[in-house]
Amino acid sequence: MKKKQFAVIGLGRFGGSICKELYNMGHQVLAIDVRDEKVNEFAPFATHAVIANTTDEKALQSLGIGNFEYVIVAIGDDIQTSILTTLLLKEMNVPNVWVKAQNSYHHKVLEKIGADRIIHPEQDMGIRIAQHLTSEKIVDYIELSEEYSIVELLATSKIHNKSLVDLNVRAKYGCTILAIKRGETVHVSPVPNEVIYEKDLLIVIGHKNDLKRFEEDGM
Ligand code: ADP
Repeated sequence: MKKKQFAVIGLGRFGGSICKELYNMGHQVLAIDVRDEKVNEFAPFATHAVIANTTDEKALQSLGIGNFEYVIVAIGDDIQTSILTTLLLKEMNVPNVWVKAQNSYHHKVLEKIGADRIIHPEQDMGIRIAQHLTSEKIVDYIELSEEYSIVELLATSKIHNKSLVDLNVRAKYGCTILAIKRGETVHVSPVPNEVIYEKDLLIVIGHKNDLKRFEEDGM
């Protein structure tokens, strides 16, 4: 895996989790917060941890933040600070600025000033949990657009020992099985005679209605 350089601004629950996870994955992570207690808390889980106010352009420049490939702005409730920080990062030509948004007004402004990805963690997680609650088969869920999604489905006994040809998912349900996960192994672009076993994880892409039909009737 190619190592990337990340900076995480705001070490609350959201930013803190991102920081730890990236660092555990072996990436270079610069952790930034305006509060020294947060910086101390995350120092063991980051390559560097520094105290800085990211609305201060000079402070950002002295950190060399313009050279980072990815910067995550995880400043919580202070919308104004989040917006100003994002604006400065885009002015410094950071190629990928990912920002946590608080509400739709915040989202709109972030879009206008060039945030590369806007995240609504509570809503996104809410959707996933709801999907999981309503079907034991749905393990994970990624919304691609209003119409299309990718779902991770747990293979049931109903489709145990059946091949992709037997199931004929594309013709019957209009969705495509992208990969099959079995334990630690992932079979990407499975061949038609690939056999599915109960408890395999199927990664399936398609229209939401088609995915629902497959999940409810086809497995
Ligand atoms: P969460 O909801 O993810 O827990 P919080 O609001 O608790 O988010 O965390 C946001 C973090 O962002 C806090 O630790 C706060 O100190 C930090 N923060 C706020 N303003 C700035 C700023 N101007 N520069 C750097 N960090 C900031």
